[in-house]
Amino acid sequence: MIPFEVTILGCSSATPSADRHPSAQVVNIGGENILIDCGEGTQMQLLKYGVKLGKINFILISHLHGDHFLGLPGLLSTMSLMGRKEPLTLIGPEPLKKFLEDFMLISESRIGFDLEFITSETSESKWLYENLLFRIRCFPLSHRIACTGFLIKERKNLRKIIPAACEKAGVPMSFFKELKLGLDYQEGNEKTIPNDQLTQSPNPSRIYAYCSDTIYDESVVDHIKDVDLLYHEATFMHDLLCRAEITFHTTAKQAGAIAAKAEVKRLAIGHFSSRYKTLEPLLDEAKAEFENTELASEGRVFRL
Ligand SMILES: [Zn+2]
Ligand SMILES: [Zn+2]
Repeated sequence: MIPFEVTILGCSSATPSADRHPSAQVVNIGGENILIDCGEGTQMQLLKYGVKLGKINFILISHLHGDHFLGLPGLLSTMSLMGRKEPLTLIGPEPLKKFLEDFMLISESRIGFDLEFITSETSESKWLYENLLFRIRCFPLSHRIACTGFLIKERKNLRKIIPAACEKAGVPMSFFKELKLGLDYQEGNEKTIPNDQLTQSPNPSRIYAYCSDTIYDESVVDHIKDVDLLYHEATFMHDLLCRAEITFHTTAKQAGAIAAKAEVKRLAIGHFSSRYKTLEPLLDEAKAEFENTELASEGRVFRL
């Protein structure tokens, strides 16, 4: 299987704390790096955790609260200063494009590489991008301003060769590519060997779901059903439910409830309020609703 992993770079909510940066994480799928959200300090966090800036070809921004995107102008400027020439795909809400244009204008600077901007759809779920390795989908979240979550779905895997069966049937290695795509093997003009005698079914496609800032809203469940890993914000403990509702955030207990309803395989909680010095109580609260819950923490890697 190709690598598919998520490295947490920041997991703090609006106010950072001494040991927690605002939201950012990087998804590595088959060697392609996708940065999701880019709070202040993200470029230093990328350096700290050994992610090369030149290897990031996709940046997804969930919404335009500062703790999710204020690191972006600095990161793009650094990429430009380093002489980047490869294009970069940026996905985010529509006003982000104008923000970056205004920033470049005011600072009399320019980005020295192609920035392909894809506007995220904030009112309905939609596939936004695909290549040979993965697809990216956005879905709406309920926050104070327009905000989306993201799904990253591995493309359908290739079928798996059964070496002994191929050897016995005399299938040349030059035909393995076609076999992986599901084609039958024809021996000369006569005998056809069905593909399923020579290959096994591929592994199911893995899916990662990122739920950025949102109030508790069960309408999200349909969008994240059965995913392999769900990252969901858990800004407050449930005793501060009132505060969570006023600020359009979720409690740890509610994050666990969403994971249970969506029947996801694993849950990682993050976006913690800086008032919490220790995070174990939030973990316990989420686990009471959904046992397979883990804490996001800086540098932690979740493998799918
Ligand atoms: Zn936030
Ligand atoms: Zn927010």
